[in-house]
Amino acid sequence: MNELELQNRTALVTGGSRGIGRSCCLQLAAAGAKVAVNFISNDSAAREVVEQIESGGGQAIACKADVSSPEQVQMMIGQVEKQLGPVEVLVNNAGVFDFVPHDQTPLKVWKRMLDVNLTGCYLTIWAVKDDMIRRGFGRIVNIASIAGLAPRPMSIAYSVSKAGVISLTKSLGVAIAEHNVRINAVAPGLIDTEILADVDQGSLDDLIGTTPMKRIGKSDEIADLVLFLLSERSSFMTGQTLVASGGRVTLP
Ligand code: NAP
Repeated sequence: MNELELQNRTALVTGGSRGIGRSCCLQLAAAGAKVAVNFISNDSAAREVVEQIESGGGQAIACKADVSSPEQVQMMIGQVEKQLGPVEVLVNNAGVFDFVPHDQTPLKVWKRMLDVNLTGCYLTIWAVKDDMIRRGFGRIVNIASIAGLAPRPMSIAYSVSKAGVISLTKSLGVAIAEHNVRINAVAPGLIDTEILADVDQGSLDDLIGTTPMKRIGKSDEIADLVLFLLSERSSFMTGQTLVASGGRVTLP
C-alpha cells in the first residue's frame, strides 16, 4: 500500500471550523500537512482547531472568508500562500443546507445554496488550479452529498448544488488529469453535525430508519475517505465520487 505522502503539503479546508471539515483538518495535520482552517463566522471554533493541531506539534492557521465571495476567496488564498505556502491540497467542504419543500424555495434560498455550495467550489478551485498545473501537483476533494445523486422531494436547491459539485468534479477531473492535478468527490449520507440542527427529530428518525445500516455517520468516517482521495493510495483516481451513506444510495 502506498503511503499518504501528505507530509509538509499545504492544505486548505473550507469550512474547517466544524463538522466534517474539522475532522478533515485534524486528519490532514496528523498526516503531516500544514493546514489552513477556513471559516465564515465561528472564530472560536476555527481557533480551537488550530490550537488542537498546534498542541499536537503541527502547523495551522485560521482564515476567515466567505467562499461565495470572489474577493474574499482571493484574499484567503493570498493569506495561505504567504503564511504556509502555495495551496497544494484543497478540500472544498464549506456548505449550507435547508430542509425545505419545493414551495419554500424562493430565489433567495436557491441562490444561497448555489452560491455557497457550488460557486464556492468553483471560486476556490479556480483560484488555485492554474498554479497547481504549473507546479505539476494538486489534490482536490469536493464534499458533495447523496442528495446530488438521488431524487429528493425536500431540499431541491441543495440537491441541485450537490449534483453540480459532482458534475464539476467529473468534468474538471478529466480536463486537468494530465497535469497530475487530481480532483475527486465524496458524497456523504446523513452525518452527525450541526448542519442538521434545523431538521426535526421525526424526519431524522425516518432517514436513519430507512438507512440500510440503521445509523447516522460520523465526520471522521468521511474524513477517512477524503484523506484516501488526497493521498497516493488513490493515485489512479480522478473525476470520481465515492459514496458513504450506510448503504442509503448505491451507484449503478
Ligand atoms: P457544519 O457542521 O454545519 O459545518 C459547516 C462549515 O462550513 C462550518 O465550518 C462553517 O463555518 C462553514 N461555512 C458555511 N458557509 C460558509 C461560507 N459561505 N464560507 C466559508 N465557510 C462556510 O456542516 P457539515 O455537516 O460538516 O457539512 C460539511 C459539508 O458536508 C457541506 O458541504 C455539506 O453540504 C456536506 N454534507 C453534510 C452532510 C451531513 O449530513 N452532515 C451530508 C452530506 C453532505 P462557521 O463555523 O464559521 O460557521
